[in-house]
Amino acid sequence: MTRPDTMTALEKSRPEEGLWRVQAPVPEIGPDEVLIRINATGICGTDIHIWNWDDWAAATVPVPLITGHEFAGEIVEIGRNVTGLSVGQRCSGEGHVVGTDSRQSRSGRFHLDPGTRGIGVNVQGAFAEYLRLPAFNVVPLPDDIPDEIGAILDPLGNAVHTALSFDLLGEDVLITGAGPIGIMAAAVARHAGARHVVITDINPGRLELAQHVCPAVRTVDVTREDLRGVIDELGMKQGFDVGLEMSGSQQALDQMVDSLIMGGKIALLGIPPGKSPVDWSRIVFKAITIKGVYGREMFETWYKMIAMLQNGLDVGRVITHRMPAERFRDGFAAMKSGAAGKVVLSWC
Ligand code: ZN
Repeated sequence: MTRPDTMTALEKSRPEEGLWRVQAPVPEIGPDEVLIRINATGICGTDIHIWNWDDWAAATVPVPLITGHEFAGEIVEIGRNVTGLSVGQRCSGEGHVVGTDSRQSRSGRFHLDPGTRGIGVNVQGAFAEYLRLPAFNVVPLPDDIPDEIGAILDPLGNAVHTALSFDLLGEDVLITGAGPIGIMAAAVARHAGARHVVITDINPGRLELAQHVCPAVRTVDVTREDLRGVIDELGMKQGFDVGLEMSGSQQALDQMVDSLIMGGKIALLGIPPGKSPVDWSRIVFKAITIKGVYGREMFETWYKMIAMLQNGLDVGRVITHRMPAERFRDGFAAMKSGAAGKVVLSWC
């Protein structure tokens, strides 16, 4: 390609609230990397933290930094050591850049590498016309997966990783938190063969979106309805077999522990704000298994989610806002309102 010198990007230019549209140099790639022309990006909750410049962001994100880590695009340049990829290949990719020296990486559990760095968080990100990425992180997109779905595979991957933490076939599943990841997890749980899938929230708009994306899910506004009644209504003898905690809310976790069967299982993806009290004795006496979930398994989660998208998993309706990248301020405003599902910015 004729490589431009500069590109448009969304940058955290100063250590304060906001993002700025800047001209930045097009990244030079190393021998094991590729250059991707970005077609579409998703705005993540992480990006909202970075926009707001909260304590986490201030302690984590170097300035200046191009943000963004949810993307789909096309390979336009390939490093000299790279094999198996070609210019013109449509792709998404894993935003966690990992090393190969740790015990975890050397045993193939790359998502547990303690040296992980995140694109758009620790290193230059994807809210830009071009992204430099290790070839290892590239995930080719089949023709039947459009760019806007490619741009939300990162959060769908969180949903798939969490939902597939435990066997769901024939199980009754409770999901607390109807944000985009919780909603997608509900769709995945149904797809994976769960019997009843119940999703809770305190925001009626989010529950409406959950019902729209996944009509087979039973939504519960916990400010108006008690989970015990729902357990009886659905004919479960004791309660839910598996819980997927997506909200970070202490009350939600308490309700989940309450409504799980003896020997139930919980996967935790939601992040509580600071330390939060947990009634451990109830967890012990109920013999509950708890698993913390981080990121996506490289690359088993990616494999499974693409396969599920190809055999009927439909999460497209979770995208509620689409707009050109120059309208990013509207996109962030929609996200911050709490009323949006996924917001996708197009870059071409
Ligand atoms: Zn994300």
